[in-house]
Amino acid sequence: MAKATEKKAKDTASDTAKYSSGIFSPVIDKCESCERIIEVESIKYCSSYTLPAAKWRQGMCNFATHIKPEVITSKIKVNPLKASKRAMGK
Ligand code: SF4
Repeated sequence: MAKATEKKAKDTASDTAKYSSGIFSPVIDKCESCERIIEVESIKYCSSYTLPAAKWRQGMCNFATHIKPEVITSKIKVNPLKASKRAMGK
């Protein structure tokens, strides 16, 4: 039990050093409620990516756990027989 407490304290210290080294940037408002956010000394960082703002620059972050990509499905039914006839005609 004491070893577990010791290990947790050691992990916390290494997390603090890792995230406050300047390599990691704080998360942006679009990251709010993502499960990958880790809070170190009351500053929120992403545990997966060093520059969260860059992940959102070209659309949605692909690591985000709080947003699912919208899948657009077509509701047009295609008759396979007619489709094959159309394909043969070409
Ligand atoms: S995984 Fe993406 S959305 Fe989540 S905190 Fe990191 S950068 Fe933000």
